[in-house]
Amino acid sequence: MPTVVNCPTCGTKVEWIEANKYRPFCSERCRQIDLGAWAEEKYVIPVANPLDDFDDEAPPTPDRKS
Ligand SMILES: [Zn+2]
Repeated sequence: MPTVVNCPTCGTKVEWIEANKYRPFCSERCRQIDLGAWAEEKYVIPVANPLDDFDDEAPPTPDRKS
């Protein structure tokens, strides 16, 4: 009796077996959706933080103060 997991994308029950190359996803489509979500998250976080870092490491230029 194989282990059964829920597809992280759609919640469908997936048998954790060698034959299922998309595990823990139920299909290639769900795997792609999840990878896409990850890629988006990774992309957003670095963009949000550098603004904070920028102030600490590089003081504002005199031109911008006036
Ligand atoms: Zn799925």
